Amino acid sequence: MNQQFLEALKTILNEEQWKEQEPMKLHTTFRVGGSADLLVTPDLVQLPSVIKLCKLHQMPYTVIGNGSNLLVGDKGIRGVVIVCGKPAEEISFDGAHMTVGAGTMLAKAANAAAEHSLTGMEFAAGIPGSVGGAVVMNAGAYGGEMKDIIESVKVLDLDGKEHVLSLQELDLSYRHSCIPEHGYIVTEATLCLERGDMQQIRDTMEDYRNRRAEKQPLNYPSAGSTFKRPEGYFAGKLIMDAGLKGYTVGGAQVSEKHAGFVVNIGDATAADIKQLMQDVSDKVKEQYGVVLEPEVKMIGEF
Ligand SMILES: Cc1cc2nc3c(=O)[nH]c(=O)nc-3n(C[C@H](O)[C@H](O)[C@H](O)COP(=O)(O)OP(=O)(O)OC[C@H]3O[C@@H](n4cnc5c(N)ncnc54)[C@H](O)[C@@H]3O)c2cc1C
Repeated sequence: MNQQFLEALKTILNEEQWKEQEPMKLHTTFRVGGSADLLVTPDLVQLPSVIKLCKLHQMPYTVIGNGSNLLVGDKGIRGVVIVCGKPAEEISFDGAHMTVGAGTMLAKAANAAAEHSLTGMEFAAGIPGSVGGAVVMNAGAYGGEMKDIIESVKVLDLDGKEHVLSLQELDLSYRHSCIPEHGYIVTEATLCLERGDMQQIRDTMEDYRNRRAEKQPLNYPSAGSTFKRPEGYFAGKLIMDAGLKGYTVGGAQVSEKHAGFVVNIGDATAADIKQLMQDVSDKVKEQYGVVLEPEVKMIGEF
């Protein structure tokens, strides 16, 4: 790593905010991935300076949230991995509007909304991602999605300059937003919720959490649904019908409990998971003529 860059970075970040050769398996729910050259955790005040420094030194960077939708290659990530930090005031309320930092976990935000008797975010309580990652992915479950509750989002552009994007500008659709194509970093989201009954909100969240525990292989590392839902089908059902439940490559397996999930049953490598995903796609295409598109984002070197 460029020494000049590192020295300059040390003037922005504290010692505990950066790590060289950091294993990405510690930062992904798949528990897979080689090392990042450098991993930094700037707070939102430091973040623009880090971006500007990367640009000055032509240092590539990758932004991650909680790593719950990522498959990082076994050879790791070149350049800098930025884990989005939290603002001093993580969550604030203005009537039924809630403003949340990108690094805040969805579960924490959903619980805070419930405490304020605000309804609309119950669907997100069991999704193990950050608010930033949820905006980027337009995360959704049980008939709700981020698109339904986002009012606006603060982002930094490639020059570290702040912009506020409206719901329309975000161009949200099924597991898609405009954020990656512009290279934006989400720093904050303002959500528009509605007044509701606190007990009812809590009961709904509990019901969704129970349904997840019943149907999903939460006892194994995974990145949630491996493939997007193809129009008119369910990926898990197609995979199950193709006889692939329990199909294994190395330490990667199509979950016995829910065929829509690939799980790490031991020391899976990224190569195992990638190969298994390819095999599953090929078999489903061959049997049903349906193309499965990964929902999981593959990053780094494989
Ligand atoms: C057990 C399990 C269940 C799941 N259930 C669901 C579900 O019901 N519904 C659902 O939609 N998803 C689900 N997921 C997938 C995942 O939790 C979501 O996609 C989540 O929104 C990802 O958030 P994250 O913070 O982990 O993002 P990451 O996985 O870290 O990143 C995802 C993408 O967002 C980008 N990104 C992250 N933060 C930022 C930021 N601040 N600025 C710019 N880019 C950023 C990354 O570069 C990457 O491209 C599940 C995952 C698991 C493991």
